[in-house]
Amino acid sequence: MSDLTAIIGLEVHIQLATQSKIFSSSATETGQAPNSLTDPVTLGLPGVLPVLNKAVVDYAIKLGLATNCKIREKSIFARKHYTYPDLPKGYQISQHDKPTCYEGWLNIRVNKQSKKIGITRIQLEEDTGKNIHLANEPFSLIDLNRAGVPLLEIVSEPDMRLPEEAGAYLRILHQLVKYLNICNGNMEEGNFRCDANVSVMQANAQEFGTRVEIKNLNSFKHVEKALAFEIEQQKKLIEQGVTIIQETKLWDEVNEVTKSMRSKEYSADYRFFPEPDLLPLIIDENWIANIKDNMPELPSQTFERLVDTYKLDEYSAELLISDKYVADYFEKALTSHYNPNGISNWITTELFGRLNKESMEFLDCPVSPKSIAILVKLIDTGIISGKIAKTVFDIMWRTGKDPQSIVKEQNLIQISDNIFIQEIIDSVLKQNPTQLQTYKAGKVQLFSYFVGQAMKASNDKVNPELLNEMLKKTLEQ
Ligand code: ADP
Ligand code: MG
Repeated sequence: MSDLTAIIGLEVHIQLATQSKIFSSSATETGQAPNSLTDPVTLGLPGVLPVLNKAVVDYAIKLGLATNCKIREKSIFARKHYTYPDLPKGYQISQHDKPTCYEGWLNIRVNKQSKKIGITRIQLEEDTGKNIHLANEPFSLIDLNRAGVPLLEIVSEPDMRLPEEAGAYLRILHQLVKYLNICNGNMEEGNFRCDANVSVMQANAQEFGTRVEIKNLNSFKHVEKALAFEIEQQKKLIEQGVTIIQETKLWDEVNEVTKSMRSKEYSADYRFFPEPDLLPLIIDENWIANIKDNMPELPSQTFERLVDTYKLDEYSAELLISDKYVADYFEKALTSHYNPNGISNWITTELFGRLNKESMEFLDCPVSPKSIAILVKLIDTGIISGKIAKTVFDIMWRTGKDPQSIVKEQNLIQISDNIFIQEIIDSVLKQNPTQLQTYKAGKVQLFSYFVGQAMKASNDKVNPELLNEMLKKTLEQ
């Protein structure tokens, strides 16, 4: 068998969370009545002029700096021509050979190895409208609310070799745009979407193979699965001596296969030329310095802070920064009860575990940071045991009630009453004479058996530390 290697390069489109569109003052909201967020510029009426939204440039510079890009002093907008009903002007205003950000990189980690992935360019452009195809109608509808919503297109170098590397790159980029607060990152709604380019070549070849582009992937898993499928497909074809043709494909998530959509159009088909209605975009040092001064904390900085300030271990800190929302949740919880390790443990084990089990996103977590903090406080102050806390957590999750009410209503308060605990110990030892004898004969492992019995007898309500201590004393007598 020949030694074949895959080459992967990604193009990511992120929708910017600005108030208004890139070239007009229409709002960028979603969920509004179709075509209600339009204006002459969005509609592409003759005689109107686009005006660049400054916030879009601010966001682009932010991302450019965070991805180690150079920021171009003079970038040029370009017309990219194609005909499609959701593009009323007949061209998209984009950038071509002079994009605003270029020559950057991001570090990814896969299999404990760090790898630098080059970023070729980040360009500013406008989104298109949406065609709505109705199932039983002989016509389609067009909603132009999305037309003119600002996008950044982030184009990577063909530096990735494995589907997992593509997944890692996307996760890092996604995490970054959320920290920068420039994109809401909702992949299902298409606010962060990816076109994946992939080719296969002999491992020692001098030139890359012919690439296939898989369009509009809207989840990390789809990207990884689509790439894995496409790589296998191309390898098979190459081994059979078939020539790969450059084409654009779609991922069929139901059948888990890539399907041909059209042959790839080439740059020349778009008849790019500089946009005559917009001046070159000039970004001076002051502008960049100003953005630098107002940069929010980046994931790597949050990581350092969590480790330094709260003395968290690196593994927990890594988990907490995976999503800015989680890191914020953690710090918000600390304002209600200051136990960084305890709260971090509850988030990364119980909360993550439950979200995972229910296939939910952290954003939809029904338990508030305050409730988690109070739950940990109830454990720390000895009011409930860690075990009971799990029961309380389950009720919190299902009912949304706060932990104190649950403990009160269900009478779950931990028992730290010495007389009561002693009674339980005595009765457990009395009911287990054989085990007691074996223990006294030297089988000290039976200690935990007695603890278990006593916990059971009290419905898990006795304070485990106190129980341990008192049981030890009793057995020593
Ligand atoms: P286009 O707009 O024609 O798709 P771009 O330059 O915008 O071209 O994007 C090309 C993308 O494809 C980049 O991410 C690049 O890294 C990637 N790419 C280029 N050549 C190959 C190849 N032979 N195999 C895999 N990926 C490639
Ligand atoms: Mg492209």
